Amino acid sequence: MNSKITILLIEDEDSISKLISKLLTAQNYKVLCTSSAKDGLSIITSHCPDVVILDLGLPDMDGLDVLRQVRSWSSLPIIVVSARTQEKEKVLALDLGADDYISKPFGNAELLARVRTVIRHSNKLNTTTPLYKRPYYAKGLKIDFEKHLVTVNDVPVHLTQIEFKIISLLAQNSGSVITYSNIISNIWGPYVDDNNRILRVNMANIRRKIEPTPSEPQYLFTEVGIGYRMLEDEQE
Ligand code: CA
Repeated sequence: MNSKITILLIEDEDSISKLISKLLTAQNYKVLCTSSAKDGLSIITSHCPDVVILDLGLPDMDGLDVLRQVRSWSSLPIIVVSARTQEKEKVLALDLGADDYISKPFGNAELLARVRTVIRHSNKLNTTTPLYKRPYYAKGLKIDFEKHLVTVNDVPVHLTQIEFKIISLLAQNSGSVITYSNIISNIWGPYVDDNNRILRVNMANIRRKIEPTPSEPQYLFTEVGIGYRMLEDEQE
């Protein structure tokens, strides 16, 4: 029986494709590669991979269109690959339903961490236990969603209602980046002005309350131009 996790890599740059493929194979993932968006779409249908790593700049089709098509019928985890400077493209991909992104050039550890995170998240969604009935826990920070209680090294932290909502949203998606507009529409609703200032103010307040050194955060990380990412929860 072959129970290996299958990852489909859609990437037209040969050197990057080889690099990623080698890296993932060494971690015991089964890797399928293609340089074409159209082939990628048909492999998704025929092989049902567990994860897709999708380059946004492909020769035969825009990667964002591949994403749109797949999202119209499937929620399978997709990590997009894009150049470091293409923030707008990454935000668009995340808002279209990509699970995470990785910027070229990237480190091996970073890529593997992204892959592990999306696999863990999709496993959680597949279990029957409601997501996050239990508290979030990482490096001394505990968030009990049911009791509305946040503690750092067992010391209670007082957060406003809005601050608690923001940290809960990030914690329930810990390890993954959440875009500014996604956070804003989740917390303030879809009709609020898409202005990051109110979010930044709240994030600064949360950091001041939970981070030992707010300027060097260990729980809440800024992804410049994109959004925020919370330290991954330590429990399975
Ligand atoms: Ca490319």
